[in-house]
Amino acid sequence: MLYLAYQQLKTSEHDAYQQSLANVNTASNLISAQIEAAISKLYLLEDTTSVSKFDNTAQRILKHNPVYSDIIYVNNVTGQYRSMKLKPTNSEKNAHIQWSKLSKLSNQLAVSSLYEKKPGQWVFAVRYTPTQEHQIWIEFDLMHTTQSLRGLRTLTDGYVFVIDRNTGRLIFHADPNRIGTPSVSFHGGISELISHGSLFGDHEYYYRDQYKVSVYDADNPFNWVFISGTDRSDILQDSYQFSLAALVIASLLVIAIGFKYLSQRFNQSIRELSQQETLTDYKQHLRFILDQFCDHKGVQFCLYDNNHGHFSTIDFHGNTHVVLTDKNLAAQFEPNIIKNVSSRGADTLAKKLQITSRHYAIPLFDKSELIGVVYMQVSYSTFKSILHLIRNYAEISLANLILNQSLRSQDVMTHLDNKLTIRGEIDNHLGHTNVFFALIDIDHFKRINDTHSHLCGDLVILKTAEMMEKCFKKPKAISLARYGGEEFCVLFHATDEHDAYEQCDIFRQVIDHANMNFSGRDVHFTVSIGVTNVKESQHVTIGAADKALYQAKGLGRNQVVLNTFRF
Ligand code: GH3
Ligand code: MG
Ligand code: MG
Repeated sequence: MLYLAYQQLKTSEHDAYQQSLANVNTASNLISAQIEAAISKLYLLEDTTSVSKFDNTAQRILKHNPVYSDIIYVNNVTGQYRSMKLKPTNSEKNAHIQWSKLSKLSNQLAVSSLYEKKPGQWVFAVRYTPTQEHQIWIEFDLMHTTQSLRGLRTLTDGYVFVIDRNTGRLIFHADPNRIGTPSVSFHGGISELISHGSLFGDHEYYYRDQYKVSVYDADNPFNWVFISGTDRSDILQDSYQFSLAALVIASLLVIAIGFKYLSQRFNQSIRELSQQETLTDYKQHLRFILDQFCDHKGVQFCLYDNNHGHFSTIDFHGNTHVVLTDKNLAAQFEPNIIKNVSSRGADTLAKKLQITSRHYAIPLFDKSELIGVVYMQVSYSTFKSILHLIRNYAEISLANLILNQSLRSQDVMTHLDNKLTIRGEIDNHLGHTNVFFALIDIDHFKRINDTHSHLCGDLVILKTAEMMEKCFKKPKAISLARYGGEEFCVLFHATDEHDAYEQCDIFRQVIDHANMNFSGRDVHFTVSIGVTNVKESQHVTIGAADKALYQAKGLGRNQVVLNTFRF
């Protein structure tokens, strides 16, 4: 019996390990994206032609990005350090700062070790050295930056944290008070493993009488170590087998066999839930788990979008349908509270979903933000502990799924789809006669950058994305994407070629007449568009639209050209 319990504990450890591994990957993607964004700002600053323009651009960047604590200009010849916040810069002159070159990107870029800007305020900097004479630094305020990792939980209390290898101190941590303090796990063995050449692996150690299990990854250009840790007690508690082990020892063998079977099924289902890659699969799997472990009369699952206040259902094909927009209702749900509600107490969403009898309302949260609700109709009360256990796993799996989906499929700057997503959508619509693909390119964009600054160029990109969303509305539009730089594309339904041309031309005119103001000056810009029906392959479709776009540019820009060749 003890052997059975031991076996099941091993399964649970394996699950925690897999989840930790996924979280470490997501964390390093998130942080790399933030550093890349800072690098583009550094390039932008280097492009400024005078001290006043540099200062203006720097002030704007600081105003719009609370994650940056300061921008520093260093003159290597005179030794001058100039802080854009006009604060003393003693900490930056500190000779102990060590720099790790981002040589994969450019030898002119480097990331600093962690340092204390003023007592209690820990920062690190990304440095750009365009010439031998000067350097520009962007400093990250770790109190802000670290917040982005708080959602990546492993089981209930495991978090991802990051350690600076130069100083051995915590650089990101879910608890802001720990930033800058020496890391126990790093000094407790991981640093030794890394110095022996194991850049990647797992490690177990004791901290404050608790046994911890972590997965670490030191293979990155920043000289940092990403660690996802879990308490072993957490694994025991959350892994259902712990209570099973106690029960098994106290019960008859027959009962034990029954429980073992149930527990194994439970663990396997929960493990599969965290591995689902689409919302449809997640929803089906969650229903499957509730079918097996709760006696219910029907389950409904709704996603909640905090930006718009939308509650949406998901259909078999993965499409979402908004059923209710109600931010007040969302505010009534509380983390950790599962309500057992009579038919008369049903909220507006439950009524919309035609929940007509006694039910449980199970909210799913990511930190303090509502991300979904499950309604489960029941005849009588079910085991609350099992419900809480399922809810815990459902919550973490959904939060991780949403985060991973947006990282994988969206363009970071405009939040439109990215190139990969729209390419996948073209593949899904090959051979459809009424589906069209348009490539949109901003005309003389380089000139806008040169005349008004890169910052203005960025705003033009955002404005174009905003107008696309207004002109090409879903479900008629299938996917709107940023293809790269100042190029965009749309996959959309149209009744025929004429209609496709008209839809694109309306968008072209809207852009031509749009008013955009930058620093008190009107900025006018236009787009050229190449449009084609979807052809026999993704490659041929994109090629045909590109050819039409090229013609539109050749004919003088600010126009739409239709590729009329049919295969
Ligand atoms: P054309 O009308 O022929 O399309 O001319 P163009 O100037 O728009 O095209 P070109 O391809 O010569 O230049 C595109 C420029 O866009 C070059 C690049 O520096 C700039 N760019 C690319 N991505 C971004 C970005 O994210 N922000 C800003 N501000 N500029 C960008
Ligand atoms: Mg272009
Ligand atoms: Mg262009």
